[in-house]
Amino acid sequence: MKKIQIALDGPAGAGKSTIAKQLASHLDYVYIDTGAMYRAVTLAALEQGLDLENGPILGELMKSLDIRLTPGEQGQRVFIGEREVTDAIRTNEVTNNVSFVARQAEVRSALVVAQRKLAERGGIVMDGRDIGTVVLPEAELKVFLTASVEERASRRHRENIARGMDSDLKGLQDEIALRDKRDSERTVSPLKQADDAIYLDTTELNIDQVVARLTELAEGALK
Ligand code: C5P
Repeated sequence: MKKIQIALDGPAGAGKSTIAKQLASHLDYVYIDTGAMYRAVTLAALEQGLDLENGPILGELMKSLDIRLTPGEQGQRVFIGEREVTDAIRTNEVTNNVSFVARQAEVRSALVVAQRKLAERGGIVMDGRDIGTVVLPEAELKVFLTASVEERASRRHRENIARGMDSDLKGLQDEIALRDKRDSERTVSPLKQADDAIYLDTTELNIDQVVARLTELAEGALK
């Protein structure tokens, strides 16, 4: 059967990764979380004490950085060279700095090449901010997934509490709104719905409903 490319974009905390993971597993596709790649670059830059706003310096870093994504039991695992950074890329420090790194053209051009390579044979669900607009403009199915800031923050809040982590709802709302603003206002590949993407507001929907809707859309795109 034909294996298509599915591009899933949207703002922070819209549930893209949870949905993309489940959709990929339903279709027996590979799930690729491109945000993890920007996070890995941010982690490396922070560890090396680099200026996160200096594109050429980060461009140099990209030449030496071997970022690998591999499927794991609990979802995608992320490596820099041989070192696993799956958890290290999820700290607040990385989250609060990733938008600075992600707006550097030198970083984006290197990652886009890698992402296209991962997607070239199809059979993938790729999530991010610019997948439908820049990375895979020919993807057979593009979805722009969103939800209100309040809903996205309260989902994160519930997840944090379920994991036994400290969580501050207001702080999460502010962090999500700020990251959306930075990601939408940057000059290079801003967060934006592709003209041919399907817009899906999940504020009133649960995960199963969203996955069911996307599975239906994917089956439609396969015909
Ligand atoms: O998806 P996640 O929230 O982990 O992404 C982290 C950050 O990486 C985003 O806030 C954005 O700055 C950047 N990103 C991006 N383009 C993508 C994926 C993520 O700029 N395709």
